[in-house]
Formats: sequence, structure tokens, C-alpha cells
Amino acid sequence: MTHLSALRAIVGDHGILTDPSDTAPYSQDWRRLYQGRTPAVIRPATTREVADVVRLCAETRTPIVPQGGNTSMVGGAVPAEDGSQLILSTSRLNRVRAVDPVDMTMTLEAGVTLKAAQDTAIGANCMLPLSISSEGSAQIGGVLAVNAGGNNTVRYGNARDLVLGLEVVLADGTVWNGLRRLRKDNTGYCLRQLFVGSEGTLGIITAAVLKLVPRSREIAIAFCAVRSPEDALELFTRYQAHDAAAISAFELMSGLGTEFVLKHIEGAVLPLASAAPFYVLVELATPRPGGGMRSTLESVLEDALEASVVQDAVIAESEAQRAAIWRLREEHSEAQKREGASVKNDVSVPVSKVPAFIRGATAACEKLIPGIRIVPFGHIGDGNIHFNLEQPEGSDPAWFLAQDHVLMDAVNDVVRAYDGSFSAEHGIGRLKPYMMPDWRGGAELALMQRIKAALDPTGIMNPGKMLP
Ligand SMILES: Cc1cc2nc3c(=O)[nH]c(=O)nc-3n(C[C@H](O)[C@H](O)[C@H](O)COP(=O)(O)OP(=O)(O)OC[C@H]3O[C@@H](n4cnc5c(N)ncnc54)[C@H](O)[C@@H]3O)c2cc1C
Repeated sequence: MTHLSALRAIVGDHGILTDPSDTAPYSQDWRRLYQGRTPAVIRPATTREVADVVRLCAETRTPIVPQGGNTSMVGGAVPAEDGSQLILSTSRLNRVRAVDPVDMTMTLEAGVTLKAAQDTAIGANCMLPLSISSEGSAQIGGVLAVNAGGNNTVRYGNARDLVLGLEVVLADGTVWNGLRRLRKDNTGYCLRQLFVGSEGTLGIITAAVLKLVPRSREIAIAFCAVRSPEDALELFTRYQAHDAAAISAFELMSGLGTEFVLKHIEGAVLPLASAAPFYVLVELATPRPGGGMRSTLESVLEDALEASVVQDAVIAESEAQRAAIWRLREEHSEAQKREGASVKNDVSVPVSKVPAFIRGATAACEKLIPGIRIVPFGHIGDGNIHFNLEQPEGSDPAWFLAQDHVLMDAVNDVVRAYDGSFSAEHGIGRLKPYMMPDWRGGAELALMQRIKAALDPTGIMNPGKMLP
């Protein structure tokens, strides 16, 4: 184990936390599934300090858990219970190094929150088109390390699609400066993409160059009541057929999940006269002023209402109404947490298979645990559903959570039947490595293990995560 005094000498007194009351919040995950223990949280303020810390840890073979905002849904950023792992928090690496509205790029350090990055882009009259409900806490390093998806994947892709360059501290303390901001650069293996989605197991991302896009100048949003996921999909295909390029978000919510939001989140209001089995949030946006988003939104909606694909709908008339509609969607995770214990399945299937998947997985889970409350929601426009399962009312939360593998496996059987993935945007973390041999076994997992061995031969980078 690295001596804490040597680490303190690198990062200074401000850069190290050792008191258990200070380290405790860093040692537990957002879902409260894991409670780890660490001798210290190291908070370097520069890439050089990160490199010196990692070099020291490599020499002493001290395991490091990189941590950004600690909003991982799969326990990716918490240390083990045995107190052997240091946490390296990137929160003091929080400078925006450059914004270039001509190149449409932004160079920023790993600890900048996603929200701060979005605001900086807007300040330069551009947009960073990555939006997730945890954006106030999630940091750029963490977002890239898990290849986050979120609300705008349907239009702009995942975090991976927005990265032009990276700066990474490798597992031996070497700094790789790959902060290029080129749109074309075919010069060997694409190393940056190796680190995107690697969940801290290969190195520590210290800075990145992200692509920006033109800022949306006209945004139109509707909240629609539908009878079923089939109707939600039908509405999506209608918008796609009409103007696919206009869709910036297309989200599904269940009636029950929305009920939890109305129950637990202060100020949340249903903007429709009556409750429905499912709801859809559809947002259209364009950088063109007067781009006709409102009329497109309305005309597709009118036809869908007439055809009884949509039962009722409201279109936001102000920025405040738009924010209120988004809040109903974004508070789903928090509301479920307040309602009780939940088992989460972040899965993806081809968009066309989402309704069949929801039906099949619902039947499988209700058979296993009568009274289980099924709360599917998420990014139906890109095929990613958070198929969350809430404990039956009045049941013991610990008993329910102990069923997690049985429930996740039952859901995954249905996912597999539709050629889907057992982890769409949250990654593997500590929750799902046991699934890897079954889903990614053979040549694929062997290749991943060879990459891990080559880049982190002493195994100090986030051990126990991602790979089984
Ligand atoms: C309410 C809520 C809503 C969410 N919604 C979404 C959503 O819509 N879409 C989505 O994709 N995710 C979502 N998430 C999951 C989570 O917010 C994202 O995974 C986010 O990208 C994690 O960022 P973070 O900074 O909190 O990373 P952390 O949780 O701190 O870390 C995540 C992983 O990345 C590693 N890591 C962190 N920083 C670095 C670094 N600098 N270098 C190398 N490795 C690093 C960690 O070791 C860990 O394995 C949500 C989470 C919550 C709590």
C-alpha cells in the first residue's frame, strides 16, 4: 500500500481526504447497493499530479478506483469493502481549457460536470448534445469512461460519438496526450475509443476534446398519453416518416413510474386531465430559426390523435412548461428510489422490438414475483429501456434485492430473444461482470482481457469492475 504521506506530498493537504466521515460519501454508490471502504480519497488538481499519484501506486501495487460524480448505476466508482483501494477523484480537475466556435470543439478537464460543460457550450453559441438526468453531478471523465447515452442519443449518438481527442494517464503513470481536435485523423489504432467505455479499468481520463453542434434555436415539445408501448412506437415511426432529422428526444414513461414521480417529487404535476398507462415525451429541435418545429409537432400529433394512436397530449407553451415536462421524465430514478427497493435493468433491443420486449419481460417478472411493480421507461427512440422493477408493496426491501440475479436473468433472457444487450448505457461496473462470460465470452472477452493485461499489467486500475 502506498504511504499516505507520499501521496500528500504530491497533492497537498487540500488534495487528500482520510477522515472516515469525509471519505464515506465517496465510498457508497448512488443506489446504495455497495458500501466500500478506502484509506483515502486523492483529489489531484492537475494532470501532472494524477500521473505522479498513479506512478507511485503502480510502484507499490496499490489499486485505484477512478471517480467522477459517483452517479454510476452499476457501482462502478466505489471501492471494495476490504479498505485496500484508493479513490482518485477528478473533481478538482475542473477547468475548461478551450472552446472554439469555429472548430466547434471544446477542450475540458475530466472533472467538469456535464451541466457546466453544456452551459459553457451555450455561452459560445454552440451546444454539447449530451444530456442525462444526472448531468448536474456526472463529470466528463465519468461520462466518457462509461460511454454515457441519454436523451439525445436518438439524434447525436452516445458520448463516444462526440469525442475527438483524449488525455489519459496510463496505469504506469505515463501521460498520453491525444488532445487532437481533428475531424479526420487516420493514423493507426483509434486509441481514444479504447478508453471510452473502459470504466476506469485501463487508465484515467484527465481531459477531452468534445465535438459541439449548432445550438438549437427552435424547440417544440409534447407530452402525450398513449395506451401501450406499441402506440408509442407507432407515434415514433410517424415522426420519423415525417421529419426524422427533427427528433431530438423521444422518451417513454409508464403510468406507474409517472405516478411515483407525482407522489415523491415536490412540484411535479401531470399536465393532462387524466392518467394513462404510458406517456411519451417527444422533442423536436432545429438550429434554423423559424424551422417549423411547432407545426411539425402539431401536424403529426393531430393525425395520431385522430387515429387514436395518442389519447391526449399537451404542447409546452413556455420554457417553464418545457422544463416541467422534462422533469417528469428526469425524476423517474429519484422517485423510484424514494418508493422503495428496485432492481434495475438498463437494456437495449432493436427499436422495433421494444414493445414485444416490454410485454415479454413483464410477463416473466410477474410470474417470478406476483405483485412486483414494473416500471419501464427511457429512451425508446434508440431502443434503450430502463426496465426497472419495484418491490411489491409492503414486502421486505432486503428480500426483494436478494432476488436481483434471478430477476435480471429473466429479463435478459427476453433481451437475448430480441438480439439486444444486457447493458445499454450504464456499463458493467461491479453489478454485472458475472454476466460477461455468458454474453461476451469466447474471443470477445479474451480480447478484452488481453487489452487489460497489456495496458494495466499490475492490475491496479479499478479492479473487480467490468471484467469477471
Ligand atoms: C439519476 C440518474 C440518471 C442517470 N441517467 C443516465 C442516462 O440517461 N444515461 C446514461 O448513460 N447514464 C445515466 N446515469 C448513469 C450515470 O450518471 C452515468 O453513467 C455517468 O456518465 C457517470 O458519470 P460520473 O462522473 O458520475 O461517473 P462515476 O460514477 O464517478 O464513474 C463511473 C465509472 O467511470 C469510471 N471513471 C470515472 N471517472 C473516470 C476518469 N476520469 N477516467 C477513467 N475512469 C473514470 C469509474 O471508475 C466508474 O467505473 C444516470 C445516473 C443517475 C444517478
